[in-house]
Amino acid sequence: MVGMATKRRQDYMKQAHTLAQKYKEQPILEERMKAESLGLVKGLRDKLMRWEEYERTMLDKTLVSALAACILGIKENTTNQKLEKCWPIIVGDMLPPLTKFLAETKEYIDSGVLRLGDQTLDFADKSLLGVVPGAIDLETDELRGINPEEEGTLEAEQSRAQGKTWPTLASRVARYLATPTFSFYNLGEYLVAQDQGFKEMRRVAKHDKKTCIDCKTYDESGWSPIGELPMPGKGCRCYDRCRCYIEYR
Ligand SMILES: [Zn+2]
Ligand SMILES: [Zn+2]
Repeated sequence: MVGMATKRRQDYMKQAHTLAQKYKEQPILEERMKAESLGLVKGLRDKLMRWEEYERTMLDKTLVSALAACILGIKENTTNQKLEKCWPIIVGDMLPPLTKFLAETKEYIDSGVLRLGDQTLDFADKSLLGVVPGAIDLETDELRGINPEEEGTLEAEQSRAQGKTWPTLASRVARYLATPTFSFYNLGEYLVAQDQGFKEMRRVAKHDKKTCIDCKTYDESGWSPIGELPMPGKGCRCYDRCRCYIEYR
């Protein structure tokens, strides 16, 4: 998969620039990619695309949306040099879990856990993850008032996290295509801050019930030398759902 991705890198860069130009802001890009996650899984379920095409599209969209998010964070016209720095980070972060995730999905299809053509659940009606374009997902999550750890346990109990049904598969796909855009947007901003000579950074947590212990700890540790703190979504158990932000000085 890494080989395939490397070969198509220039193509991905071009597509990412188009995507960034089109959606302009990270939250809009994220919403758009959530809608695409749903469309993709529906396409597979309804046999509009073959497995090979689904797999390839997952790879392409995961990388292109992450690159587009970096471009939005970098906010310059001549972003190519900084974007080159994002590439190995994106590949290293996303491809190993994506490979595993795709293998799991394939297994569920082959063993009949996920049935192709099964339309017993209409996930368009489920307002899944707020995947309906324009819907806001994170806020709904927060209203439920449980932290990510509790949520993880709950998901595991209900086999929701495993992607064993078409709707939960779509929400897992969104965790590759959509939610990581936040972290990569921050990576883009970080590269700029580093370039501008900022010396310190701090990670500010959202002080709500969902903020995990790791994010609280970063938040409380205050200012650190630039480069010493992980980007939001890294080094915390919120993962891609983390919505800490970074300040520089
Ligand atoms: Zn966290
Ligand atoms: Zn966080």
